[in-house]
Order: sequence, then C-alpha cells, then structure tokens
Amino acid sequence: MERMPARGCVLCQQGAKMVLFITGMCRHTCWYCPLSRERKGQDRIYANEKEISSTEEAVRVAQRMSALGTGITGGEPLDRIGRVIEYSRVLKQIFGEEHHIHLYTALAPGEDTLRSLAGLVDEIRMHPPAECWDNVSRTGYVKAARRAREMGFCVGFEVPALPEVGILESVLPELDFLTINELEWGETNADEMRRRGYVPVDSVHNAVAGSREWAASISRNPKVRFCSSQFKDSVQLRERLIRVARNTARPFDEITRDGTVIYGVVESVEGIPPAIRDYGEEMYEAREGVIETAWWILAEEQVRIGGKKAVIERYPDRGIVVEVLPVP
Ligand code: SF4
Repeated sequence: MERMPARGCVLCQQGAKMVLFITGMCRHTCWYCPLSRERKGQDRIYANEKEISSTEEAVRVAQRMSALGTGITGGEPLDRIGRVIEYSRVLKQIFGEEHHIHLYTALAPGEDTLRSLAGLVDEIRMHPPAECWDNVSRTGYVKAARRAREMGFCVGFEVPALPEVGILESVLPELDFLTINELEWGETNADEMRRRGYVPVDSVHNAVAGSREWAASISRNPKVRFCSSQFKDSVQLRERLIRVARNTARPFDEITRDGTVIYGVVESVEGIPPAIRDYGEEMYEAREGVIETAWWILAEEQVRIGGKKAVIERYPDRGIVVEVLPVP
C-alpha cells in the first residue's frame, strides 16, 4: 500500500496551516504534555504565536500567511466546542469549503458532537492518553473513530512516541492514519521526564533520546507517519514563516532562508537622516520614534548616520525578536 500522509499533514509540511490554539484548558493530566507554562491551563486563544480574542483576528493571521487550512488544537478544544464551531464556521465562510480544518482532541466525540462538527471540521485527530493504550480497542476512542469515519470525517490518532507506542498497531484498521510525534522535552514535563530516566538527544534539541527508535517498529506501516521534532522546527515552521514574510515584508526587509526578516533601526536622531532619505521613501519607515530601514543602508552609510544603530532579526509580521546586533 502506498504511504499517503493525511491532508492535514501535507498542508502542515508546506507551512500552509494556521495553528489555532483554542484553549489551554484540559481535563487530562498526561505526564508528557508538551504545553508551555504560558498556555497550560489558561483559557487563551492563539493564532500561530499571536494571542487573539476574535474570529476577525484569526482571519487576519490566516490571510497574512495565505493559509490553506487550519489545525485546531489545545488544551482540549472540545471543552470549548462553541468556540471551535464559531471559528471553523468563519474560516470556512471566508476562505471557502476547501480551507482544510483538522481538530485535535483527547476526547472520544459522541454522535451529537460529531454532527455539530460536520461540514466544519474535515479531519479529526484523537489523542487517547497513554494510560489507555493497552486497552485501546475497548475504549470509546475506537468506537468514536468508526462513527466519525461513517459520517465522512477523515480520522486518525495523534500520539507521542513513547516506548509502548507499538501497541497501537492493532487499531490501525479502524483509522485513516496514525501520527506519532517525537517525544519532546519541555519546561512543564521536565520533572516527569527525569523521573522516568529520559534525557534530551543533545543540549541543542528538545527531542527525547530513544523516542525515534520506539516508533520505528510501527512506523513502517503505510498508515503511520512519524513527525520528528527537528522536522517541525526546520521544515514546517520555516515554511510557515516564509509564507508570512512574503506577504508582510517591506521593500527594505531582507527575508532569510529561515523565514525571519532582517532590517536596521536608528534611534535618537532628529527627523530622517539624509543618508537614508536619499534611497527613496519606500526604503524607510518611521514608527514609534524609531527609523527602520535596510540593514545594508546602515552598514554602507554608517558614518553619515548618527544616533544609536542596530540590525534586528525577527519573526515576520512584528514577531519574536531573534537577535539585535548593535552597529557602531
Ligand atoms: S490531552 Fe493533550 S493537552 Fe491535555 S494534558 Fe494530555 S497532552 Fe496535554
């Protein structure tokens, strides 16, 4: 059988999915939960890295990355099902039926829930918590998977690569796919990781040593996809940042291969220095008392431009600042 990744995975690999974190609330207490302190247990909504509070903001974030789909995640999204429905409906209305929506849930949705999601959510990714894996075919998750497939949803499980993940092979006939995420060390699960004797692969990456091998026995099955932590950072995130950067970069922003943007800033000067003005209006912007321009203008005109100068590298669309390099 040919290995066909789920549609949600294909769009995610292209960086074309907006990640809509619908709530940090969750009734489960999985020891490996990867949520950050900022999000865990908080009833907050994020579209990619931006905290939002309305569907309009979600639409703007999706537009800025030319999103072809949305992955709804949490926390437990179905504990805020009204929100899931509201956001999915607006996204489908604005971007059309073909805007692919996948939903993560650690619950086994019943018929009424599935009916309310029909036509809004295309793919359901259930996460049975690890404590029920050895008994999973007798849990509600398999029943829910069957029901959801009958109703036309594409249905899979999405789980972390724990030593016992191979047990899930027995339920593959009931699923369209199984996504196994490399186990990731995080600020909120570090104590539990240490208690179990797990260690990160090295001092730079947060993947847990051995996790890839635990998934290996089952990942040969064509329905299984192993998603490495490095792939998420180096491919998915980079592709998404590049999409946002292409839509939002100013003429003087340089887009890097990682999807970040680089530009120069000048502070503590009166008006626009002539050395910058000479390059034309599209090559600078004055905002919040600072002049922003191309980094190479600062480098070339270093002597003619006074004030405090620096080169900034950050995520596109005024995202996280990665580096600030002072220019003498
Ligand atoms: S179900 Fe998901 S969000 Fe909830 S505790 Fe488990 S891993 Fe964390």
